[in-house]
Amino acid sequence: MLYLIRYGEIGLKGKNRRFFENTLTANIQRVLRDIPGCRVWQAHTRNYVEVPDTSSREVEERLQKVFGIVSFSPVVKVPLDLEAIKAAALQEFAKTARPGLTFKVNTKRANKRFPLLSQEISAAVGAHLLRNLPGLTVDVHTPQEVLDIEIREEEAYLYTKKILGPGGLPVGVAGKGLLLLSGGIDSPVAGWMMLKRGVTLEALHFHSYPFTSERAKEKVFDLCHRLAVYGGRIILHVAPFTEIQTELRLKAPERLTVTLMRRMMLRVAEQLAARRKALALITGESLGQVASQTMESINVIERVTSLPVLRPLIGMDKQEITEISRRMETYPISIRPYEDCCTLFLPAYPAIRPRSADVEAAEAALDIPSLLADCLGNIERHEIGDDR
Ligand code: ATP
Ligand code: MG
Repeated sequence: MLYLIRYGEIGLKGKNRRFFENTLTANIQRVLRDIPGCRVWQAHTRNYVEVPDTSSREVEERLQKVFGIVSFSPVVKVPLDLEAIKAAALQEFAKTARPGLTFKVNTKRANKRFPLLSQEISAAVGAHLLRNLPGLTVDVHTPQEVLDIEIREEEAYLYTKKILGPGGLPVGVAGKGLLLLSGGIDSPVAGWMMLKRGVTLEALHFHSYPFTSERAKEKVFDLCHRLAVYGGRIILHVAPFTEIQTELRLKAPERLTVTLMRRMMLRVAEQLAARRKALALITGESLGQVASQTMESINVIERVTSLPVLRPLIGMDKQEITEISRRMETYPISIRPYEDCCTLFLPAYPAIRPRSADVEAAEAALDIPSLLADCLGNIERHEIGDDR
């Protein structure tokens, strides 16, 4: 089976476009690498994939997860010759044709040297189908079936089916971001949304062993694996958070612990990002969802870092976020009932509008540099592959 793959061309000029195309080709090759007899190539602003017919369903499912693909079609390749096109169109359309079916032929002529105009090709092929397949009618406005013909440089392509891809940009064209990944529903979705914009991800998870279990860590591995299916191999950093949390519980006012915890997370993340050459931090925050996600909280928390903190879910409802999490298949993993370090010491009345001055006063009681150094010095690094 041969597939023609289309991608968006917005903002794609010069060198950028070549980079975009090569990255997309490499990403398609990556997701199909274990399909025997698979070939992937690019030509004239399109990608092509050729696979044995037996794996076509699997291949279609995987292509629907490659960011940057707008749509793709199983196609028939035909020499640039009207008689050959007519014959192939008949053979192809005979598979779907039935008496009473309305259809139209739609031709695009990228190759302007082809001697006939698009209209003329459509008319000739349409007439040929009408002559040979009983009971068809042409309906140019609301046809039940469309036969598309693309006249390209070296050959023509025919297809009747268009499968939507996920859109977005190919992962790898937009720089690296460090995702703060909890075991919850939101942060994996935030990671997915940034992958969709072409960002390469590394993930950082804070673990509070022995208060949080190995199973909680395993959950994060599984979430990362789902992200890797879309984004390729992901480096996951697991940072020990127990000491910081213990210190906060001992020395800070209870109502500020969430704010202080988040500030510590961002400080660790910023330093790790510098080491890993990540240009932004990414979180799963959504405005107003919990106490630490009010404008006032976000304001006070973000002050500790000079890196941009990207929050792709900021304007989304839980419902919308959950829909994406089901689609990316992280939902069943996220709802596994293991404790996260943040739910662990959740105060009964967290500050909803923390004030900078109070937060700074509380932090004066802590030895922040040494807490940070300890945490950063004990980060475990894991590589999560995208094997299926
Ligand atoms: P999530 O569903 O992603 O857990 P949430 O709605 O539970 O988010 P919070 O618990 O307030 O919200 O966390 C806000 C953000 O802080 C998370 O989306 C995530 O980016 C980050 N975060 C929270 N806990 C952790 C953790 N243990 N390790 C790394 N990042 C975390
Ligand atoms: Mg959470």
